[in-house]
Amino acid sequence: MIQTDIVIIGAGPTGLFAVFEAGLLKMRCHIIDALPQPGGQLTELYPKKPIFDIPGYPSVGAGELVDNLMEQIKQFEPGFTLNEQATTIDKQEDGTFIVTTNKGTQVHGNSVAIAGGLGSFEPRKPVIEEIENFEEKGVEYFVKNPELFRDKKIVIAGGGDSALDWSIFLADIAESVTLVHRRNEFRGALDSVDKVIELKNLGKINLITPAEIVGIKGQDKVEGLVIEKEGETFDIDTDYFIPLFGLSPKLGPIANWGLEIEKNAIKVNNALDYQTNIEGIYAIGDVNTYPGKLKLILCGFHEATLMCQSVYNRMNPGKKFVLKYTTVSGVDGFDGTRKEAEKAVVKAID
Ligand SMILES: Cc1cc2nc3c(=O)[nH]c(=O)nc-3n(C[C@H](O)[C@H](O)[C@H](O)COP(=O)(O)OP(=O)(O)OC[C@H]3O[C@@H](n4cnc5c(N)ncnc54)[C@H](O)[C@@H]3O)c2cc1C
Repeated sequence: MIQTDIVIIGAGPTGLFAVFEAGLLKMRCHIIDALPQPGGQLTELYPKKPIFDIPGYPSVGAGELVDNLMEQIKQFEPGFTLNEQATTIDKQEDGTFIVTTNKGTQVHGNSVAIAGGLGSFEPRKPVIEEIENFEEKGVEYFVKNPELFRDKKIVIAGGGDSALDWSIFLADIAESVTLVHRRNEFRGALDSVDKVIELKNLGKINLITPAEIVGIKGQDKVEGLVIEKEGETFDIDTDYFIPLFGLSPKLGPIANWGLEIEKNAIKVNNALDYQTNIEGIYAIGDVNTYPGKLKLILCGFHEATLMCQSVYNRMNPGKKFVLKYTTVSGVDGFDGTRKEAEKAVVKAID
């Protein structure tokens, strides 16, 4: 059992920044996320887009903001359980909580902060007969470990950034890469489209457009696909089929945790500390709702800050909290590092 102070569900910007605010108050955090990497919507939906409304950054790439948040919290040594979905929260007799994931990992903490955003991202699946029977038997909706595809024949379907980027990346690893898209035009970054065309001309990517996968062949695993192109169908041999049609968020298990839900979000007490109807369980960032709620990154940062103050009071009843500015107090990392502003030099005037 992993022990921590705050169990954070969701490694989006809100969950990540909560680690920093908790660290300032000497509280440790463990983050669980269903996705294989941190960053939430920023990494999964728009990593290359600039964001213009982060205070102090006239413009910052979404991926860059996540990298900066990871750098900022490094000193507080958060634990990460990635690629696992939090499925249950059990309140203990002493008021603490155990969060369990779909893979059986258990994290015990004083409080739980749900920073689940729009919920767990689930892949948009193509409508192909019996596709479910081939899931994890050759049909992969995520590229979690590129090594799985080394020296294998793969077919990627889709026309967005993920389909283009993975086709480019896997062209050097797989035996063959075929990219199938139902249109001739792609909806991705221009340089990625150019790169795919370059690799096609070099014979490293087999591009089939406008076409769709309409069937899967194989006994116990994927052995081939049926492709329809301009009214004609033909078969192609493959070891793996990777449909990359984007992800759609679903509130998922969060809806079953006995929390008050309104408009697909968790109701919280915004006048105080973003606590839910269950004492000790907080909801911060896009996942919560209250009068006047705005689903913006900077609002998530604010909510994370107030949540941490409230958990501090839960963990240290009766102890007076004194707000300290980081410019004055510096930042003491759990890893032994210390950051502080240069001390003012007092000089006597002769
Ligand atoms: C295209 C686009 C552009 C945007 N541009 C801006 C902008 O310019 N400025 C701005 O302020 N905002 C913008 N936003 C909104 C912004 O991305 C969100 O406000 C922000 O991502 C919310 O952060 P979060 O950490 O609360 O949630 P998220 O980023 O959604 O992260 C939540 C995480 O929780 C995980 N999760 C959910 N349920 C579970 C579970 N049961 N177990 C484990 N993990 C779970 C998910 O996998 C996800 O990683 C934009 C959004 C989109 C889609």
